Amino acid sequence: MTAADEKTLLESIPRRLFIDGEWVDAEGARTLDVHDPATGEVIASIADASPEDGVRALDAAVAAQDAWAATAPRARSEILRRAFDLVQQRKEDLALLMTLEMGKPLAEARGEVAYGGEFLRWFSEEAVRISGRYGLNPEGTGHMVVSQRPVGPSFFITPWNFPFAMATRKIAPALAAGCTVVIKPPELTPLTTLLFTQLLVEAGLPAGVVNVVTTSTSGAVSAPIIADPRLRKLSFTGSTPVGRKLIAQAAEGVLRVSMELGGNAPFVVFDDADLDRAVDGAMLAKFRNIGQACTAANRFIVHESVADEFARRVTERVERMPLGRGTEEGVQIGPLIDDRAVAKATELVDDAVARGARLLAGGRAIEGAGSFYEPTVVADVAPGSAILREEIFGPVLAISTFSDEDEAVRLANDTEYGLVSYVFTENLARGHRMIERLETGMMGLNVGVVSNAAAPFGGVKQSGVGREGGLEGINEYLSTKYTLIPAQ
Ligand code: NAD
Repeated sequence: MTAADEKTLLESIPRRLFIDGEWVDAEGARTLDVHDPATGEVIASIADASPEDGVRALDAAVAAQDAWAATAPRARSEILRRAFDLVQQRKEDLALLMTLEMGKPLAEARGEVAYGGEFLRWFSEEAVRISGRYGLNPEGTGHMVVSQRPVGPSFFITPWNFPFAMATRKIAPALAAGCTVVIKPPELTPLTTLLFTQLLVEAGLPAGVVNVVTTSTSGAVSAPIIADPRLRKLSFTGSTPVGRKLIAQAAEGVLRVSMELGGNAPFVVFDDADLDRAVDGAMLAKFRNIGQACTAANRFIVHESVADEFARRVTERVERMPLGRGTEEGVQIGPLIDDRAVAKATELVDDAVARGARLLAGGRAIEGAGSFYEPTVVADVAPGSAILREEIFGPVLAISTFSDEDEAVRLANDTEYGLVSYVFTENLARGHRMIERLETGMMGLNVGVVSNAAAPFGGVKQSGVGREGGLEGINEYLSTKYTLIPAQ
């Protein structure tokens, strides 16, 4: 990939808001800058929407709702399928763009395009399977008709860590169900959503069905949209503190919400685990996306009899991980999203070490341009360390130990989060017990990545409400209508 390729791609990306089928300037032609986290340089200036722009986007979604809901499911399905095909054609551009604005290594960005694209294909197939039921009531006096209707205009707020997949995971099921959309992409990585919107237009999406507002003032632009009685659904992916605020705003209008929030995933390695598998799983669960995933393993809870060997093996692997700009061949650790993320990783590691943890690899921020933190391993992390409570969101593998199954379960569940857990054991009965005992919405049993468009993604406890993907995903955008007709 040359600098000229990067420049050509960046120049081709739309830079304005997309409202009612038109690319338009923000009010007052205000702009916001997008940076490359590997260099700190500005790579694009794009429209910076005002609250009024946000309401205009909602106006367009509301105006388009009835016609979109009335389209044949097959027509909606075919638009999604064409969008899937266009994503395959443009996969290199989408991947490079994500690496430029977010920093992840190009190979991982390609993986995200593949994963995110699958939501378009999956929901193109689900669009034609929305159905209801018909039956006699128990008294025999009436026929009950149960049908599914699109919820209506939906508002999406997405995070920076998976700029493509977080957009498709919401937009695809909404369109399949017959809902129109306003999306507010993250201010740090808005470009991928803009390119994807261009592909939706090429796929034949009618005006007003998807509207995009990029802004540096997320709270101010979102609040009037959420407060608007014409909005029917809010779907948010991001941190738990922001999610909590949005749920409170949504409560005013008794709005339907889906919340994909933070995680603090336990990665439990039993003494009967296949250690090779556990180490492979650990590298994926921890270092994918430079540790910046809600599903990232946050706490490695390892049986005391295998902890030293596990730590030795992961340290060996971590010491060999090439770090650099994501566009460079072979790089596995790109930059963190910004300097605040580097400061947070530094603080958490320093706190763990001050409480007695052993630093086995890394442990330092890297001086110079870009926001880099070394891939790091800390062992013997003491109870009470902040790293066990907070999402690290960086390339830091923190190990603590346990001595029996009950203790492992207690430690794993000792968090207000409940998104995903990883368990490594060769004992089938123990594996089944863990499915029952761990309080998470998802689990990887002897595997370090669980995401799949055909599976229900989501958490329990303060990791969120609702599911994205799978058979469940489309239900978030449907409301059930029941009608009774007298039997005679
Ligand atoms: P964030 O909560 O800071 O921001 C997420 C989005 O919300 C961004 O678009 C941001 O502009 C917007 N936002 C921020 N404050 C807002 C406000 N007051 N009103 C309206 N919008 C507001 O999170 P982030 O740092 O972008 O993403 C990282 C977080 O997202 C982590 O906690 C991670 O675990 C979580 N995450 C969860 C999932 C999941 O599916 N559960 C997936 C990816 C990321």
